[in-house]
Amino acid sequence: MFSFLKRTKPAGGPGVDLPPLMLHSTLSGTLEAFTPLSAKEVKMYNCGPTVYDYATIGNLRSYIFADTLRRTLDAWRYNVKQVINITDFGHLISDADEGEDKMTKGLKREGLALTMKNMRVLAERYAEAFLEDLTSIGVDTKRITFPRASAYVPEQIALISTLEQKGYAYVANDGVYFDTKKFAGYGKLGGMNAVEQEAGARLEINPEKRNPADFILWKSDNKLGWKSPWGLGFPGWHIECTAMIFTLLGKQIDIHTGGIDHISIHHNNEIAQAEAVTGKQFVRYWMHNEFITIESKRIGKSVGNAITLKSFMDRGFSPRALRYWYLTGHYRTPMNFTWDALEGANTALARLTRAYLEMKEGELDKEFLQKFYACIANDLGTAQALALVWQHLPTLNKSTLKKVDEVLGLGFAEARPPKKLAVEPKGELDTLLKERANARLAKNFTLADELRLKIEALGFAVKDGAEGQEITQK
Ligand code: AMP
Ligand code: ZN
Repeated sequence: MFSFLKRTKPAGGPGVDLPPLMLHSTLSGTLEAFTPLSAKEVKMYNCGPTVYDYATIGNLRSYIFADTLRRTLDAWRYNVKQVINITDFGHLISDADEGEDKMTKGLKREGLALTMKNMRVLAERYAEAFLEDLTSIGVDTKRITFPRASAYVPEQIALISTLEQKGYAYVANDGVYFDTKKFAGYGKLGGMNAVEQEAGARLEINPEKRNPADFILWKSDNKLGWKSPWGLGFPGWHIECTAMIFTLLGKQIDIHTGGIDHISIHHNNEIAQAEAVTGKQFVRYWMHNEFITIESKRIGKSVGNAITLKSFMDRGFSPRALRYWYLTGHYRTPMNFTWDALEGANTALARLTRAYLEMKEGELDKEFLQKFYACIANDLGTAQALALVWQHLPTLNKSTLKKVDEVLGLGFAEARPPKKLAVEPKGELDTLLKERANARLAKNFTLADELRLKIEALGFAVKDGAEGQEITQK
């Protein structure tokens, strides 16, 4: 079925051919064979977080998806230049330029006055937490550039000026707007149609806007912000991404990713800004991950049902179990989070890790790897790839499974055998462990957490592995 590409340095080692990499493009709505703009390098940009709070496990789905894609491109032997932006100053709460600013909300929550300095302090605190989260879920942050939007304000101002000179921008009472009617084909991504634009009209609050879909490029502020030709204020958040992409990656890039919520407004706006300036296609492959929900409700900091990676680890789960769970679904499929599903993923990953630790090194299983890469080549078919691993597990060796982990990033290849306790738990430790096991069985995670803290106070660490609780001396 596949015509195999012959490469001089195949991913799976000598003799393993790679099928063409098929990726789903939001622009065409179909799977397309990936070919980079330049044979040498793939330029990829992933929309990053606004750092006013901890990332939710929903946000982390975006970065696990981006990282799986990056690992896949690595496996296909491309040199990847990857950028994830950090939005470290205010942008309005929704894509549609309305509501309370997220950074302002963060400052209020932490009892900090609204100043530029405090905004930086808040942003750096959560930017650091974000990078730690990425590391825990298996992202090699050293290979990614994380530009702070605040460090690229002159570039954003220059871009707005160019749009103004070219007749795409106009000044209104509260800042500078992009005139979407001037850009032919506005809204081409995801088929944003007249009905949705009408919906935008109902939210319309500024009578000086020429068209409902027009969006802010520069937001005036009478107290805070940067100086600009339009007075004091802040760049709009859509211009941030475009300016940083132009500066760090160039005017045309290969891949741009984000969650599906960014398609209709943020990414259509990015296309309009960039293509109005260059007259060339901005991004070759737009790719988007679906959302996760909790009890079928969208997870979001603004919705208030956010789960962070820390709360997740506090329950004894390994952060990579979250990654495992995501990989059991396709990135374009909505998933509903339950603690039971996580429990299952945690156990499965612990079993896989144990199997790996018991394996011996050996020759690469080329036949298996060929099948594995074929799953991944089908728009990152991680669920099929995982099923294939389980199916072949009894005959696989360590060397082959290491190759698998290079793409899946589950971390079992870095696992070390657990330090066994020299003595059997007894006395208070034994009682606490039994109580904790019962609490977990009864899904009383709050009690389980309290008991874990008591166990830690006795000098032991407890994690939940393939055979129940694993105890190590701290
Ligand atoms: P934000 O900080 O809100 O801009 O979100 C960062 C990234 O996470 C974006 O790519 C969002 O589309 C994505 N995202 C936010 N919430 C979810 C969710 N519940 N499921 C999946 N992705 C999400
Ligand atoms: Zn963006």
